[in-house]
Amino acid sequence: MSERTPEPMRRIVAARARSYCEYCRCWEQFATESFTVEHIKPRQAGGETVLENLAWSCFGCNGHKHTKTQARDPETGRNIPNSTPLFKGVSSTKSTYLYSHS
Ligand SMILES: [Zn+2]
Repeated sequence: MSERTPEPMRRIVAARARSYCEYCRCWEQFATESFTVEHIKPRQAGGETVLENLAWSCFGCNGHKHTKTQARDPETGRNIPNSTPLFKGVSSTKSTYLYSHS
């Protein structure tokens, strides 16, 4: 964690995710650890610090994923690319779906 994402970029990513972890969907307000900007494609793998490659991530998800770019699918047992956050690119209209549940 030597290189930090610029603060304005952090705020954009956080606002875009509405402070929800983009991987597990937990809400930052309820988290004990601070959230962080996560590189979807790790910097070590050539991932750039651009909005398209950044996801708002809770401490747990960020620590869990680390630099792995593949994950085992629990249903099929196959390795799948871990490059796409579950809720990546949720539009504002789709986001209202979350609120309508409560
Ligand atoms: Zn998470």
